Amino acid sequence: MGAPGAGKGTQAQALTRRLGIVQVSTGDMLRSAVQSGSELGRKAQSFMRNGELVPDDVIIALIEQRLAREDCRKGFLLDGFPRTLPQARALDSAGVALSAVVTIEVAPGELVRRISGRRTHPASGRVYHLDDAPPQTPGVDDDTGEPLVQREDDREEIVRRRLKVYGEQTLPLVAFYRQQPGVALHQIDGNGTVEEVRGRIFSALRL
Ligand code: AMP
Repeated sequence: MGAPGAGKGTQAQALTRRLGIVQVSTGDMLRSAVQSGSELGRKAQSFMRNGELVPDDVIIALIEQRLAREDCRKGFLLDGFPRTLPQARALDSAGVALSAVVTIEVAPGELVRRISGRRTHPASGRVYHLDDAPPQTPGVDDDTGEPLVQREDDREEIVRRRLKVYGEQTLPLVAFYRQQPGVALHQIDGNGTVEEVRGRIFSALRL
C-alpha cells in the first residue's frame, strides 16, 4: 500500500524478482483493459481519468479471476489492491490469507514531485523517473526501445484528487490490517532513494 507516487510499482518489481512470485497490479490490469477497449476498460476509463476509484464490485471480480490463475499458486504480491475496506473484506472472505502488508509512507510534496517526473512503458509496466531513474536513452524503454509515456492520470489536478481519495478510502486499511490476526503489518519510510527504500522493505520482511 502507498499513496500515488510512493513507489508501490517500483518496489513491487524488486520484491517479485527476489521472491520469484508474480506482481498483481490492478492499475496495470485496468490500463491494459482500457487500451484493448474491452468492456472492463470502458467501465473503468472514466473513473481512472478523473482520479476516482473503480467500483468495488468490478475490481473484486477482476482480482478473483486473476488470483485463480496458475501463476498465483506459488504466491503473489498485490500492488494497488485492496484500496477500500470492502475490497479488503472481500479478500478476507474469499479465504485469501495475506502473510504481510507493506505500507510505503512519503510526504505529500515529495509525492507530487515524483509523479510529475514519472514515465512508464505501457506494455511491460516498467516505471522510470526523469531525474531519479532515467532510461538509458531519453524517452524510450531500456529493454524494447519503445516510447515511454506519461500516464493520463499523472496530471497535477488529477494527482491531487488521487491523493485525497487515498487518504479517505485507502488509509483506513492500515488500522484494518493492524488488528487482523496473522498479518504482519510493516510501515516503511518511503523517503530516500529507491535502493534505500528497497533495503528497508527487504529487511522488514527478512529477505
Ligand atoms: P494505480 O496504477 O495503482 O495508481 O491505479 C490507477 C487507477 O486505477 C486508480 O487511480 C484507480 O482509478 C484504478 N484502480 C487501481 N486499483 C484499484 C483498486 N484496487 N480499486 C479501485 N480502483 C483501482
